[in-house]
Amino acid sequence: MEAEPEAEPAAALLAEPCPAASTPVPASPPRHPAEGEDEDEGEDDDDFQFLRCDGCGQDSARPRLLRCLHTLCPACLSDTKQCPRCQAATAAPAVDNLLFCNLRSRLQLWRQIRSAGGPGCGRCRAEAALVWCEECEEFLCGRCLEEHQWWHKKKAHRVRRVEELRAGSARQFLEETRGSCSLFCSSGSHPEESRVCSIYCPRCERALCCPCALLDTGHAPFRDLRAESRRRQDELRSLRRDLRRLRRAFEAAAARLRGEAARREEQRERLRERVRASAERLQELVRSEAEELRALLEARPERGRSALAEELLGAEGTLLRLEAAERLVERLGRYGGEQELMDMQPFVKGALLELRRLRPPQVPELREPPDITECRVRLRAL
Ligand SMILES: [Zn+2]
Ligand SMILES: [Zn+2]
Ligand SMILES: [Zn+2]
Ligand SMILES: [Zn+2]
Ligand SMILES: [Zn+2]
Ligand SMILES: [Zn+2]
Repeated sequence: MEAEPEAEPAAALLAEPCPAASTPVPASPPRHPAEGEDEDEGEDDDDFQFLRCDGCGQDSARPRLLRCLHTLCPACLSDTKQCPRCQAATAAPAVDNLLFCNLRSRLQLWRQIRSAGGPGCGRCRAEAALVWCEECEEFLCGRCLEEHQWWHKKKAHRVRRVEELRAGSARQFLEETRGSCSLFCSSGSHPEESRVCSIYCPRCERALCCPCALLDTGHAPFRDLRAESRRRQDELRSLRRDLRRLRRAFEAAAARLRGEAARREEQRERLRERVRASAERLQELVRSEAEELRALLEARPERGRSALAEELLGAEGTLLRLEAAERLVERLGRYGGEQELMDMQPFVKGALLELRRLRPPQVPELREPPDITECRVRLRAL
């Protein structure tokens, strides 16, 4: 029991006339009056999964709060350069997530309360606990409670029956115990004694106990600690309202971006479909064109070929006649007498003149049949 801190309840201290506390303190616990206007106060946190590491999902005794306001266990934080939730860089300094840390230990208390046998007395460790002292943060059995009440009779510790707590919800328990942890003065002027803070010095941005605030004239102007914590809550709430508006704007922007991305993907898909369709059409076109050309080449084989054959036949005939003419003229010269010359010369001359009018046929390539030409043109067009 000697190890117990000389905890002075904040309420008791504040009730004393303390000139440093300039703001009147309401008797009720510091609950924000405008809380009703918060939109999603009923957010379902009942399983408290949010206390787990945002990276590995494990329970951590020392969760760290990142600049992006996600929470990682020390192992995950040292392993990564990016927040696994939002991909923000984790290089910015992180702080201990005291809220989650405290919630976690209070949740463990709650589990003790709800455990099959209920919690045991934290002092004698022999009996089942009857009450929970919010100031000592300890479970007490009936006998130890009597002793505790006698010991703290001047300070009136707030105790709750374990049975009553058991009947409530975890959320209720955590909400009710949130104010029970007192803030102790960290001033070096009284190292032997821990005193509960009730004063806030805005200059040092630090909580002080009443005596420290009065003795050290460097601190001023003072604010009541509860008023300061209300002010800080208000500040956060007002920021949250601003951020909600911003979030709606971001949601709208994200929706637009998503819509645009979907539109582009759709466009790309349509184009892909068109490419596929026209490739198919082209293939079909090429196939039918090839079919037609083959038909064109096969359908009229005689015409083109026979024209050429006639030409060739004609040329061969002319060659034979030229040869015959040459021989006849030669033989007539060699063997013919005047009689033959007189009788035959005019006829032969006529035939020779006729032969002389002939011209050799044109080179066949230049007279390509029209179907081949057409074929060639259409092939090139493909
Ligand atoms: Zn982790
Ligand atoms: Zn993050
Ligand atoms: Zn006991
Ligand atoms: Zn107590
Ligand atoms: Zn102090
Ligand atoms: Zn100060």
